[in-house]
Amino acid sequence: MLKGKTALITGSTSGIGLATAHVLAEQGINLVLHGLMNDDEGYALAEEFATKYNVKALFDGANLMETQAISDLMDKALETMGSIDILVNNAGIQHTESIDTFPENKWNAIIAINLTAAFHTIQKSLPSMKANGWGRIINIASVHGLVASLNKCAYVTAKHGLIGLTKVVALECAEQGITANSICPGWVDTPLINNQIRDIAEQKNVSFEQAKYNLVTAKQPLPEMMNPSQIGEFILFLCSDSARSITGASLPMDGAWTAQ
Ligand code: NAD
Repeated sequence: MLKGKTALITGSTSGIGLATAHVLAEQGINLVLHGLMNDDEGYALAEEFATKYNVKALFDGANLMETQAISDLMDKALETMGSIDILVNNAGIQHTESIDTFPENKWNAIIAINLTAAFHTIQKSLPSMKANGWGRIINIASVHGLVASLNKCAYVTAKHGLIGLTKVVALECAEQGITANSICPGWVDTPLINNQIRDIAEQKNVSFEQAKYNLVTAKQPLPEMMNPSQIGEFILFLCSDSARSITGASLPMDGAWTAQ
């Protein structure tokens, strides 16, 4: 059912996005790969996917802080692929610091990349989804779209906003075969959290592995980080026909973090 459809995954040069790209390509889904990577590396990555999975694959390195670059990314994807059937808004950054000193430039970057970019990509994807009467929009929020933690004012704000955006899109598209959902992961083993682990290791004078364990267990009853491909598999399920009634939902995958 999904073979031959096209997925655009923002931030698919690393972590959750890259793992998701592998899971979707394995099903014969064509890919628009995206992320901060130079063009040569990006084109090589797209070539690798095309060869390995026998799918069409395109790369674009748009900086999601720039509205024009997002617009160009979407135009290029639509012109080359014909439609965007599955949109995964995944790209994101983090900065942890007390609100007392939180830098304005970090606030602006986190809101732009983690929230505003999704507004633009959704707006540009909807016409082709509506024309086909089918679409899947999956926004990678976070447990921090549901609850807060210290020192993450911009990230928590952006992720709460992303969940709100997802709900509105779900309502507006409910009669058009388009679902919109947020996934809310707890700790996932990717480069995004390495700085937080390094900070703990330094402050507590413990090893990187011990700091990682401390970080997870401070919040999550399940004492292990998720593998990014677990999120990819969940996204694949949300794309399936069995999931057609799941829309407007904020779906935790968090080792019981938010059950407390
Ligand atoms: P990652 O650092 O491995 O990947 C981030 C991706 O976003 C990369 O491809 C990067 O190139 C891209 N990106 C960053 N800034 C960009 C910009 N200005 N323009 C274009 N692309 C940009 O991170 P990850 O852990 O895979 O995170 C993916 C998503 O999952 C994020 O939205 C993050 O908030 C969310 N998330 C992660 C965790 C976790 O524990 N890792 C938990 C909950 C939610």
